Amino acid sequence: MNNSLVSRFLCLALSGMAGVLQATARPPNIVIILADDLGYGDLGCYGHPTIRTPNLDRMAAEGMRFTDFYMAGCVCTPSRAALLTGRLPIRNGMAGSHSTRVIGSRHTGGLPQSEITIARALRARGYATMCIGKWHLAGGTPDALPTRHGFDAFYGLRWSNDMEAGGKKSPDEAGRTRDDPLWWNCALLRDETILEQPTDIRTLTARYTQEAVRFIRAHKRRPFLLYLAHTYPHTPLFATARFQGQSPRGLYGDVVEELDWSVGQVLEALRRERLDKNTLVFFTSDNGPWLQRKLDGGSAGLLREGKGSTWEGGMRVPGIAWWPGKIPPGVVTRELACAMDLFNTSLKLAGTAIPGDRILDGVDLSPVLFDNGKSLREVMFYYRGDELFAVRKGPFKAHFIPAPGYGSGGRAPVFERHDPPLLFHLGRDPSEQFDVAHEHPEVLAEIAREVEKHRAGLQPAPPQY
Ligand code: MG
Repeated sequence: MNNSLVSRFLCLALSGMAGVLQATARPPNIVIILADDLGYGDLGCYGHPTIRTPNLDRMAAEGMRFTDFYMAGCVCTPSRAALLTGRLPIRNGMAGSHSTRVIGSRHTGGLPQSEITIARALRARGYATMCIGKWHLAGGTPDALPTRHGFDAFYGLRWSNDMEAGGKKSPDEAGRTRDDPLWWNCALLRDETILEQPTDIRTLTARYTQEAVRFIRAHKRRPFLLYLAHTYPHTPLFATARFQGQSPRGLYGDVVEELDWSVGQVLEALRRERLDKNTLVFFTSDNGPWLQRKLDGGSAGLLREGKGSTWEGGMRVPGIAWWPGKIPPGVVTRELACAMDLFNTSLKLAGTAIPGDRILDGVDLSPVLFDNGKSLREVMFYYRGDELFAVRKGPFKAHFIPAPGYGSGGRAPVFERHDPPLLFHLGRDPSEQFDVAHEHPEVLAEIAREVEKHRAGLQPAPPQY
């Protein structure tokens, strides 16, 4: 079946499942705000001593803060593919490999049309859908852009802010250096058309925010999904003049404080339009901090390692849920949750059926969010590329291959295999320092059974890049 036929089939299947939106029962709006490479320890409400994040702190005080919220990937492409489809990247072709971690312009693949994104499912239910910010699920062709995956509109970059400069020298022919936001040659798209290239990437957070507020205002009479995937604090770092030089944490702090301001603007727009009581807002980050960037990278707090790694710092990220009147205020939950769960949760809240023709790895987070039950999630699988590196069950985490970070100073990372695996108790030892495998053979056996069950039902999709 070609792509357009697959699309048409999916649309029919989804509209059949959901029916058209009834005017009498308006389902809630969904807003997902995603930072890029923001670490577990980079917000005030997660313990950062100098980065000021009053808006996110207030969002947590008015809503729910997760201590154990995970991404299903440790770099941009797999983690976003999983968030939007509720499926492990190994199932949707977006896992990457040991050597190719993320998709770029040289690739011809992208998120397959056979995948159902939150946007596609909610659009079939009558939602207005928009993606603002970084996509990173398409190669060099438009076939997998947001507009081909259920989003009515797109405003943002196709890839990371460091991926369009190619092999440029600094200074380039125009005399620009790497300190110049234009040197990075980023193309800003509206839907599928390039609006600007090079784009002044200093202005991205401000412009994404303006676009988000405009979208909220324009759709106040209709349910909407807003996926606001910020470009920062992925390096190179740039902030608008108003935020530059303001944070005691330096430029990284300036950039995070501007993101915090943006969250405040979005929540304020929802309050102003009287949509706050009917909107779930979820804030998180696509992976851990890029530690190899030193002062330009963030912090995972007391978690070990960062971006690119399957140690906790690579995949455990801030997670804050906000819905005044529905989510009880000031709750800190220690329940296990993952970004893939936003798929099931969003569909459930929208009143649309969960697709039954595929294996989903997400669970409905409603019992946790509405504080009336335990998490339905029991296990976390930590993939690096297409290989399973670690598994968490309850407080225990077994590492078959303890992954190094994103880059090891230009050297090829060393993958050491452990059989039996290393075992850490994340409650007693959140920094994963003390191997307790020899004390808990029964836990290792239980985790081995989970892996066996997982592998028995796993059919890896053909890699898209
Ligand atoms: Mg990232």
